[in-house]
Amino acid sequence: MSRMLSWRRGGTWGPRSGAPTPRFDSASAIVISSPDDLARLKPRFMRALSDKFDAEALAGRLVPVLLEDHSVAIFALAEHVGSDQADELARRIRERGGASSGPVRYVLAAPLLLAISRRQLSGQVLGPPAGNRVSSVRTAPAEAFQDVVEWGVRHGASDIHLNVRQGEPESEIKYTVAGQYLAPERFRRLPTSTLFDMLCVAWMDIQGGNGAVFDPGIEQQGSLQRQVDGKRIVLRWSSLAADAGPSVCLRVQQDAAAGLPTLEQLGYLPDQVRSIRRVMLSESGAVIIAGVVGSGKSTSLAALITGLPAHRKVVTIEDPVEYRIPGAIQNTIARHLDTDTHAGFASKLRSLKRSAMTDVLLGEVRDPETGRAFMDLAGSGVNVYTTIHAPSAQRIPDRLASDFIGVPREFLATSGMLKLLIFQALLPLLCRHCALPMQSLLRTDAQWEAHPSGMRWTEWLNLVHALYGRELDLCRVRNARGCESCRHGQPPELHGYAGRTISAELYEPDLAAGPALSAMDAAVCKARQGLIDLRDIEARFHAFETEAMRRSAHGVPSGFQGLKVAS
Ligand SMILES: [Zn+2]
Repeated sequence: MSRMLSWRRGGTWGPRSGAPTPRFDSASAIVISSPDDLARLKPRFMRALSDKFDAEALAGRLVPVLLEDHSVAIFALAEHVGSDQADELARRIRERGGASSGPVRYVLAAPLLLAISRRQLSGQVLGPPAGNRVSSVRTAPAEAFQDVVEWGVRHGASDIHLNVRQGEPESEIKYTVAGQYLAPERFRRLPTSTLFDMLCVAWMDIQGGNGAVFDPGIEQQGSLQRQVDGKRIVLRWSSLAADAGPSVCLRVQQDAAAGLPTLEQLGYLPDQVRSIRRVMLSESGAVIIAGVVGSGKSTSLAALITGLPAHRKVVTIEDPVEYRIPGAIQNTIARHLDTDTHAGFASKLRSLKRSAMTDVLLGEVRDPETGRAFMDLAGSGVNVYTTIHAPSAQRIPDRLASDFIGVPREFLATSGMLKLLIFQALLPLLCRHCALPMQSLLRTDAQWEAHPSGMRWTEWLNLVHALYGRELDLCRVRNARGCESCRHGQPPELHGYAGRTISAELYEPDLAAGPALSAMDAAVCKARQGLIDLRDIEARFHAFETEAMRRSAHGVPSGFQGLKVAS
């Protein structure tokens, strides 16, 4: 070994000798953001050379790689591309004749770098993987997983989906952002083995999970925490042993102790917030929030509870705790699919009932056991707040009475028992900088695709006007090209959008036969203010043509004011 070398075998750095190298300017590194970018690289990428340069211990951060022209380049994570270790690696590559100057440094996302360092991704078929040191085996998939989580959190994803396709070379990572199921370029075409390694390592940090190791053959649940940009993020893990391989869904929950959004900030209309506050003044009975998966029910519930006065004793029963609610006594009761914790659930409930609480948040009613808990609590005269999967506010009693949950109809029909039923949906907000006037749909030169039903846009606009009146001047439509403000770092499916908003319907069974304003109409209210694209309302609820047919079937007059009965 030459005296010039300062890199010791085994991954420690010794004293340097030789001339100092000028600092590398990190901004000059070339970014490879996806496997497709990598495939287009000229000269072509061949394989990792970590073993040749004794750099296995750095594999999660820095990887020397061979290119087709026999030069050696450095692939690095952004935060390591200009590090001392990268400089040392560069020096070593030059000394071994791997690069006349440089070498060229590239910045890669952690999962991609991981796949390359583990030789799961290469320009040609390779020999057996190098014997990586234990530390790099442990940390590289963890960093890759962190990268996956960070992307989701920074893009406001409600869920991260890691779909392992066993038996296929590539698997996928998808995100639910603003209700859309997206595959960002950055994580496309990931080797299946890389994804699998990431899941195995991530599961090691799971809390309250069933199983000591990640098991692709069974359904597993649990939660884990990560820090992203200084904030604590809770991920609820739920895996499905699907035919093609394990499909892991991570529900992203931000710890909102410092500032849960208010109901208004979430998107509830001022009148609706007033009604909720009014209903919450009365003693006993249930407030239930329904919605589809990922519609933000738990967030709304937490926001609602946070508004309770300090003289009420609030207890929560959650599986697991999703938000820290100031002043509330929170209880995690984990119930697993394959373990018998039901006795524990029942005894916890009995203790809670003796604790003289006035208000209880029951995370979700979803099966006979939580159905019984709901009945037990609501029947004992405390205020109960919970969530449920149901397609509308009016269908909540049907869902509770269904065979899946089994709450008797007589119980539900008791006056005051179902105090307030809410249904909410989450819709993307238009970017206020680039949204276009709705009339631009009529421009023939423009970007518009046809209406999904094949209707011409003039016909569609006439229908919308007939349904909702002429006051649609402020309505705007999404600019799919986006602008500087909304495009940055976002996948193309989200260009033209900025954030999300809830549209909700409120139903007090004791007072009326249905909600005064349907969630779809609440969304139309926002579209009239130019906040939501009417076309997104159709996609989330139903076509305006269907709405017109429903109205005529129910004898409801057209026009926005005439709406008293929905569905
Ligand atoms: Zn924009």
